[in-house]
Order: sequence, then C-alpha cells, then structure tokens
Amino acid sequence: KIEVITIDGPAGSGKSTVAYMVAKALGYNQIDSGALYRAFTWAGYEKFRQLGGSGDWATAIEANSGLKTYLSEIPLEISFGSDGRQHVYAAGRELGDELRSPEIASRIKPVADARYLRERVREVLVDAASRFSLVADGRDMGTDVFVDAAYKFFLTADSRTRAARRLAEFQQKQAGITLDEVQAQIEARDRDDENREFGGLRPAHEAIFIDTSSRTQERVADIMLAYIRC
Ligand code: C5P
Repeated sequence: KIEVITIDGPAGSGKSTVAYMVAKALGYNQIDSGALYRAFTWAGYEKFRQLGGSGDWATAIEANSGLKTYLSEIPLEISFGSDGRQHVYAAGRELGDELRSPEIASRIKPVADARYLRERVREVLVDAASRFSLVADGRDMGTDVFVDAAYKFFLTADSRTRAARRLAEFQQKQAGITLDEVQAQIEARDRDDENREFGGLRPAHEAIFIDTSSRTQERVADIMLAYIRC
C-alpha cells in the first residue's frame, strides 16, 4: 500500500534531514518540496536574465508573459535514487548544489507566492505519490497537498537555533555574515511563509508537533518512527 507522511515547518527546523532519516528507516522515498520551488526559481531567473533582466523579478514572475509562459511549460521532473533520495530536473538538466545558495533563497518569494507555480509543484508531488510511498517535507504538505496523509508532523525550533544551523551551512561559502543577520533573514522568511495567501505555513489540525531546538536529528526521527510504528 502506498503511504504518505508529511513533515512541515519553518526554514531551518531540520525537516529535510529528518525526512530522509524517516524515509530510509521505512523504505520510502523522500521528497523535499522546497527544492521544487528552488528549481523554478533557478530556471526562472536564468530565463529572466536571458530576456534582458530588466525590471523587477517579482513583478516579472506574475506579469512578464514570456517568463510566465516559460515557467508554466518547462518540464520539471523528479526521480528517486536507489537510496531514496530525490533528483530534480528542470528543462532536462539535473539541479543540485546550485539550488541551496543564498541567492536562490533571496529570489524565491515571488515563485512561492505564484499560484500557477504552486499548482505545478503540486502536480509533481501528487504524481510521485501515485507511484511511491513518500515522506514529503515543506510548508503545506499536510494542509494542502496531502490532506489524507497517514501521519503529519510539524517541526518547530526557535529562530536563533535555526539561524545557527543555517549559518553553519553557509559558513564554507559565505564569509562575513553574522548570526544576527541570518536570524533576521530567517524571521523575514517566517513572515513570508506564514502570510502567504495560498499554501501558507500553518500546522494541520491533526499534526504532531516536535520542537527540534534541543534535540538531535536522530532523536527527532526516532520520535516520529515511534508514532508511526505504534
Ligand atoms: O525548505 P526550503 O527552505 O528549501 O524552501 C524554500 C522556500 O520555498 C521556502 O522559503 C518557502 O517559501 C517555499 N516553500 C513553499 N512551500 C513548500 C516548500 C517550500 O512555499 N511546500
């Protein structure tokens, strides 16, 4: 039987790593829905630049018909490795590390706000779930995309802890950014995610809450598996 488990929560709450641990333990595949929004952002911004890059990126996503047509039509695909990890392809090209950059994060809001792009992400997710058991993580997995999921989890952590995790990820690439700055960015992203008109971040009413601030990722995965297996 195909089953879906959802894990939602704010940026830096540890969703994707824990989702992969749970997927691995259950023999499911993991889908990181944020990577699909990042893939549209990456591909869309490349196109925006090719088209001349004039004007405001956020406005172009909704108004520039060339860019909108492009994003409405480019193939976005995922496949799963034998290790259960997702691979993301946009316009036939596999996207990896380029999706995790701070530049992508800073350009993502208009993409995540665009209803036509949320619909495209939903199609990819629902199609995958028709073929595989999944652990799906994101913002609206339990509330909008997989309302019938077998288990729904909602991860939280205070913004300082989440900022420290992000800073550790950035450290190799980006010198000179402070913890206070990363915390401010995280809190701005929280506001964007919470206030989004469609697909905003909120817990499903039946979601199981886990605070990850002072727990290891192994511990969080174990807590989830205990719920799933009992
Ligand atoms: O989780 P991650 O940081 O990779 O997500 C990138 C962005 O994509 C988030 O800030 C959020 O705005 C958006 N997103 C979303 N819905 C999801 C997953 C991510 O709007 N299900």
